[in-house]
Amino acid sequence: MGDDKLRFVGVIGYPLRHSISPAFQQAALDYYGLDIRYELWETEPIGLQSMVGQLRLPQNLGANVTVPYKQAVLPMLDELDDLASRIEAVNTIVRQEGRLIGYNTDVYGFLQALRQHGKFEPEGKEVVVIGAGGAARAACFALLEAGVVSLTIVNRTRERAEALAWALEGRVRTRVATLPWGDARLGELLSRCHLIVNCTTMGMKYGSEEGESPLEAGLIPQNILVYDLVYNPLETPLLRAAKAAGARTLGGLAMLVYQGAAAFELWTNQKAPLDVMFESAKAGLGEKKGGCRQ
Ligand code: NAP
Repeated sequence: MGDDKLRFVGVIGYPLRHSISPAFQQAALDYYGLDIRYELWETEPIGLQSMVGQLRLPQNLGANVTVPYKQAVLPMLDELDDLASRIEAVNTIVRQEGRLIGYNTDVYGFLQALRQHGKFEPEGKEVVVIGAGGAARAACFALLEAGVVSLTIVNRTRERAEALAWALEGRVRTRVATLPWGDARLGELLSRCHLIVNCTTMGMKYGSEEGESPLEAGLIPQNILVYDLVYNPLETPLLRAAKAAGARTLGGLAMLVYQGAAAFELWTNQKAPLDVMFESAKAGLGEKKGGCRQ
């Protein structure tokens, strides 16, 4: 963090080596010729408080926050916007007049990608979400806010699914159900839902489950949308199986770019150059030897 003119924004997380946010955020900043550098701020847990504290320095505009700190940063901020407060997760921090304000743009990114690229309107629909980590929290919250009528969470660790369902149900009227991993009723459940969302890390390039799918191919119905939040590879094993089954598919790259675009607009007050961001995100994926974090 350096000279008088240059300002900084970055992503706080751990580990961060796979992040492609610098690729598409810097391209957007350069598109407007802004004297701002987007940096990787890889931070071990013990350094989190200090890293967030540094955002108060005048040369810093704010940050993205990613795994594993989206909830940990909450008490370190001065204010949360309404959505971040309700979901209790922050993925974007903005410094305004010396105060740190927390936002959540994951919910917007998830829904914008679903509507614009998936051509899917969640209102009135039945949905199955696989996974119960941070991404699932944002996805479930977004779907409930958008008016789905039924939401079932399927997760390897049942207790985690139940804890998420419990946290969500306190905020909405829709009943949130859970189903154990590998339960024989899954096929029947999928056959009557409209959307399946994968929020696990399965299929992620260079992860320990690379090449794996969270669903057996034979369980994927036709006439359904399968949305995989994993964005590297662009076509995951789940999406390949879904296409083979005749289902429509949506990968995770659009969500990644839309959440980043909303953050960019909060920091710069400039309209995000989406085409530039999509192109550079795809190019960034090509350059990375892995890609699992914002
Ligand atoms: P997380 O909090 O670590 O959660 C990981 C989830 O994956 C948990 O539900 C975990 O189940 C499940 N899982 C991991 N390995 C598994 C296995 N072998 N079998 C079955 N389930 C397994 O991670 P996250 O932050 O939610 O991220 C999840 C994925 O979403 C990542 O691939 C990430 O890149 C992607 N993502 C994409 C975007 C985007 O903008 N496109 C945004 C955020 C995240 P247990 O609870 O049983 O451990």
